[in-house]
Amino acid sequence: MTDLYPVPADFAARANVTAADYERDYPESIRNPDAFWGRIAGRLEWMKAPTRIREASFDREDFHIRWFADGELNASVNCLDRHLATRGNKAALVFEPDDPSGEATHVSYRELHARVCRLANALRNLGIGKGDRVIVYLPMIVEAVVAMLACARIGAVHTVVFGGFSANSIAERIRDSGAKLVITADEGVRGGRRVPLKDNVDAALKLPGTNSVATVLVVRHTGGAIDMQQPRDRWYHAVVDGQPDTCEPERMNAEDPLFILYTSGSTGKPKGVLHTTGGYLLYAAYTHECVFDLKEDDVYWCTADVGWVTGHSYVVYGPLANGATSLVFEGIPTWPDASRPWQVVDRHQVTIFYTAPTAIRALMREGSGPVEKTSRKSLRLLGTVGEPINPEAWRWYHEVVGGGRCPVVDTWWQTETGGILVSPLPGAWPAKPGSATRPFFGVQPGIVDAEGKLLEGEAEGNLVLLDSWPGQMRTVYGDDKRFFDTYFAAYPGMYFTGDGARRDADGYYWITGRVDDVINVSGHRIGTAEVESALVLHPKVAEAAVVGFPHEVKGQGIHAFVTLVAGETETEELHRELVAHVRSHIGPLATPDILQWAPALPKTRSGKIMRRILRKIAEGAPDQLGDTSTLADPGVVEGLLAGRRNR
Ligand code: ATP
Ligand code: MG
Repeated sequence: MTDLYPVPADFAARANVTAADYERDYPESIRNPDAFWGRIAGRLEWMKAPTRIREASFDREDFHIRWFADGELNASVNCLDRHLATRGNKAALVFEPDDPSGEATHVSYRELHARVCRLANALRNLGIGKGDRVIVYLPMIVEAVVAMLACARIGAVHTVVFGGFSANSIAERIRDSGAKLVITADEGVRGGRRVPLKDNVDAALKLPGTNSVATVLVVRHTGGAIDMQQPRDRWYHAVVDGQPDTCEPERMNAEDPLFILYTSGSTGKPKGVLHTTGGYLLYAAYTHECVFDLKEDDVYWCTADVGWVTGHSYVVYGPLANGATSLVFEGIPTWPDASRPWQVVDRHQVTIFYTAPTAIRALMREGSGPVEKTSRKSLRLLGTVGEPINPEAWRWYHEVVGGGRCPVVDTWWQTETGGILVSPLPGAWPAKPGSATRPFFGVQPGIVDAEGKLLEGEAEGNLVLLDSWPGQMRTVYGDDKRFFDTYFAAYPGMYFTGDGARRDADGYYWITGRVDDVINVSGHRIGTAEVESALVLHPKVAEAAVVGFPHEVKGQGIHAFVTLVAGETETEELHRELVAHVRSHIGPLATPDILQWAPALPKTRSGKIMRRILRKIAEGAPDQLGDTSTLADPGVVEGLLAGRRNR
């Protein structure tokens, strides 16, 4: 039995999208995408309005994806200039520093516009223009947003690299993108610890294949000691100061590249996902307004780093295109303690809060105390993204964080999709904990079996998309073949997401995890997310990851890695109890064959569990771990390998 969380009446009464709106517009958006998206496109400011709308085919012979192909616009104009007349003094950004006693700052639309223009002028003077690639390797500070928008203003293509990545990862992205310029800072600060950003860039630029970079701009952030190498390295403030605070924006075709962003690397070597200007911006803005039910006076906080796609679409482009106030947080949610996010919410009267299940579980692990000592009265909507959220964490988020009054939007999407594809529209229909619910306007999900046959009604299998949407990625940078082979070869004429899903009797979608993670036990498909949710339901379990391994009798067996709540001990008795707990919750088929204690789990820098590595550990193939460069802490893997040997 699943519990249903109805839309609160007062929320529904003011909702941007009601149930009636959806029932009326969704069918039209599928039947006649040209009419629907042609109309929605009117919410952007175009230099030349598009007359061509959707042009796409996923077939090998005639493969192409184009949206608004004769339209012209500039993304920075849409995020800034357009608001100056009506919102010039409104805060575009609220900056909350890592140090809780540090000063928070507000940046108005007018000021942000001027700062973007100054940097854009400086970049042009440094020889950067339309189509050139620029690496942005910055902490979560205002300059990160300024850098992205300044690139957009002059038509340069930004590639943001998460500030937690090493010299190697930076070098790899420079090599792949052929970037000419890097924007970085002396150091970053996260959770009180300094991150040597400039040193990492120096090390990256010593590695082979990186000499496309002629200039490094350095933001003075902490004032820490660094090497400045002449003439390559330039202080950001020195090149920006004295620049005019207006800058003629580049006219961009809707299909001109806006950015390249590398995926998290959960399933292998990161892919350089290329997004273009018109379709991406429109899709980010429209989903942001509908899914987050955005109102003029909202204070909106998405905790994602700009190094991830969530930071691109829902810290920067979506909110700013909508004229919203977007909070930029330099720190981490659990430092100095687990009440930090809620203190920030209270301080800035945040109304909409969007984060990842991994953060929710980390906060939940510390109990409800740190939450309950804050008010959180300003909150009216909560969101999650990044992984399936287990119902237990969903309920805690809803009840403890949101005081039971805020709808929760569980948003399913990918770097590749540019924006949210399946999610509740919070004023339109009731939520079910753990379900991303229904498709957004213009999105046609499908569920196929292993042979690629489309399944009707209630079904479980592989999640595909049957047609294009404006925010879809256009290619893997420099590798059209990899693009086609990765997403369109498995099921002809369809985009394959790599995720598994179930559709229930109400037409709600439940993401069961990555398809490689679905375990086939004696011919029965068991979603890893389901077993993990059962384990996390146990009060002593903080986090769990489940993978399959080859099993002589069953085909695949279930190997569970379990992290306990702080203060609990790993005993034989608890081990038996947990195995029995899964068995009674899901059924004998789902009984873990192996349950291994995991003091910590291997995660990507964006906090996702890397199951492909756990799979290799479970298979006993430590020599085949593959690309581990995106791991947050490689030491975790060693510990688990040792744990497996001692089991
Ligand atoms: P790579 O593609 O390099 O392996 P990645 O898939 O982790 O990395 P992202 O694009 O950041 O890179 O993540 C998208 C994936 O995250 C989705 O395909 C899905 O597996 C998971 N995901 C995102 N949001 C949700 C959600 N709300 N529910 C379930 N899964 C989600
Ligand atoms: Mg992926």
